[in-house]
Amino acid sequence: MQKLGLARDIDLALHLPLRYEDETRITPIAELADGDTAQVQGEIRDCRVEHSRTRRHLVARVRDATGELVLRWLNFYPSQQKQLAAGRLVRVRGEVRGGFLGLEIVHPALKVVEPGAPLPRSLTPVYPSTATLPQAYLRKAVDSALARASLEEILPPAALPPGLPSLREALLWLHHPTPETSFATLEDRSHPAWQRLKYEELLAQQLSQARAQAERALLQAPPLRATGPNHLRGRLAAVLPFTLTAAQQRVVAEIERDLALDKPMHRLLQGDVGSGKTVVAALAAATAISAGWQCALMAPTEILAEQHFRKLVGWLEPLGVRIAWLTGSRKGKGRREMLALVASGEAALVVGTHAVIQDDVHFARLGLAVVDEQHRFGVEQRLALRAKLGAHAEDGANLGATSSAGPPPAAPRGLEPHLLMMTATPIPRTLAMTYYADLDVSSLDELPPGRTPIVTKLFADDKRDQVIARIRAEVAHGDAGGDAGAVGSGSASGSASTPGRQVYWVCPLVDESEHVDLQNATATHAELSAALPGTMVGLLHGRMPAAEKAAVMSLFTGGQMRVLVATTVIEVGVDVPAASLMVIEHAERFGLAQLHQLRGRVGRGAAASVCVLLFSGPLSPTAKDRLRAMAETNDGFEIARRDLEIRGPGEFMGARQSGDALLRFADLATDNALLDRAREVAAWLPREHPALAAQHVARWLGSRQDYLKA
Ligand code: ADP
Ligand code: MG
Repeated sequence: MQKLGLARDIDLALHLPLRYEDETRITPIAELADGDTAQVQGEIRDCRVEHSRTRRHLVARVRDATGELVLRWLNFYPSQQKQLAAGRLVRVRGEVRGGFLGLEIVHPALKVVEPGAPLPRSLTPVYPSTATLPQAYLRKAVDSALARASLEEILPPAALPPGLPSLREALLWLHHPTPETSFATLEDRSHPAWQRLKYEELLAQQLSQARAQAERALLQAPPLRATGPNHLRGRLAAVLPFTLTAAQQRVVAEIERDLALDKPMHRLLQGDVGSGKTVVAALAAATAISAGWQCALMAPTEILAEQHFRKLVGWLEPLGVRIAWLTGSRKGKGRREMLALVASGEAALVVGTHAVIQDDVHFARLGLAVVDEQHRFGVEQRLALRAKLGAHAEDGANLGATSSAGPPPAAPRGLEPHLLMMTATPIPRTLAMTYYADLDVSSLDELPPGRTPIVTKLFADDKRDQVIARIRAEVAHGDAGGDAGAVGSGSASGSASTPGRQVYWVCPLVDESEHVDLQNATATHAELSAALPGTMVGLLHGRMPAAEKAAVMSLFTGGQMRVLVATTVIEVGVDVPAASLMVIEHAERFGLAQLHQLRGRVGRGAAASVCVLLFSGPLSPTAKDRLRAMAETNDGFEIARRDLEIRGPGEFMGARQSGDALLRFADLATDNALLDRAREVAAWLPREHPALAAQHVARWLGSRQDYLKA
């Protein structure tokens, strides 16, 4: 419950059903049709485990007086198999699909019942939950919290849209709609009860955004300006191996303008995969260092952090910048040495994973923090970063006394570092305005020149052998060049004979358990190794020790390894320009943003790149939409727009960042009028009724108030 943010009675009272289930009726099996959602009661006939090429299914058959139905679990526990002993009477519910063996329900909700067990008399609320929190428990908790929670009106009538029910009325109805209420009414989100909830939620969010903004205006930061004739910032710009795009120049200017101010920058840099965000970060870091301050750069995975580290060492060490490297896997003496470099200020730049913000890391003079792929960090980590940055303002002043390297020029007390966040998942404007009102946004809307668009192809999984045959033909050609130049010299016509192709083969996360994930990738690795004799085929997954990961990555980056089978560990940021073919297995299981990110690993050099999406049916309608979107466009902003359309804003923001989906009820696509009203009221309510405004925010956001800052 804590994970879901359900700490107080009011949290539970405001935890509204996702939907309702009709468990009041049993449908005879003979009356089921493909696509129905229904409840069936019958006896288990048999239950067994079926093996396919890479995985195991649990399959049971259930029979009532009218017919037979197949139940299927794609992943399961041994205890489930035991529960399904032949002869047991079960009640199952789910979506009926025409399967290979006739009608089936995949992952049904299942209850073992006694003969004659009564059916519920009213609709059953289904609450958002987690895998380990049973609905029945949550329902009881919500009901008793509803009885206890104080639901009196806080908002004065002038702050409410007209014609809506009281909060109490709205809540009671939504949790327990009267039995005669139709599903259509319940699904209608423009119902006054929903309107009331959505408005309250939007108002709470607008109020706390306004407060966060006001708080930030009071903070102080060191103005960072590259001055002097021969400063680092200018020298870095001079040695870059390419000219900045116009978009990069504009964004760099926006950032440098912020850095020069004496209040902390909070800027989100969004740019499609491959748009060149890293160099923008490097220039910002150089500005901070030129001004005599330290910069920290954080990446969500060790692989990505290592890649940044190499790139930045290549650019900045020749210019005399000392760079420290901190990750979770680096322990003992090496870590202590790095910590000393950071604390003394000798390391001007610190690159790493979230290890950079651990308690024992003390910066001498942190002026700028850069967070790459910020959407991949959990809310907690982003909060920890904010706390660290805030604490740093306290830290700095004490350091002179504790450092053995002699007193460094300590940071004046009370100065916060500037913050630059980067993401390749663009956030549509309305969302940015509501979720990130406390952030300024810069966009890289242009790709570096010379890129050939990626061609995306969809293949059913039964074409797998053809895809492997094509890989065999392609890797057989020429030597892989380790750099984009070697590949770029090949024909750009997209012909199959482009020399030097390197290939990513991505395996999905089958479920939450990394173990299954691993089996899948390992099996594919074995399959490809056997199918491609004489070719080096590597394997990369999250469970490997960091050193091994780094070794595999460097073989692939160097070009000796031609094929890399990987889990989604390569999803973000990995930059190997010579890789020009990507195969994504079970593409139907990935989200759209994730597919786009993965695809962004190719198309980084001048060679024509291809992305093959292998899927196995039957495809759900949303899976179809996602695959179609991938085949139709390469544009990240367009992908984000479609993703938003397919998933809705709550999911869009929340999928990766559970707990972060601050708008649970309001839908920015349809509730703009309510949002406008909330904005209007948020402008005067804190002034005229400060206590009520604070009370309203506390009721709605409680312990989550801080999330708005993350
Ligand atoms: P992302 O925005 O996805 O983080 P990267 O920063 O990894 O993109 O850049 C992608 C590739 O493009 C890198 O190999 C980088 O060196 C290269 N690159 C960046 N900016 C330019 C530019 N202006 N001209 C040419 N290549 C560039
Ligand atoms: Mg990147």
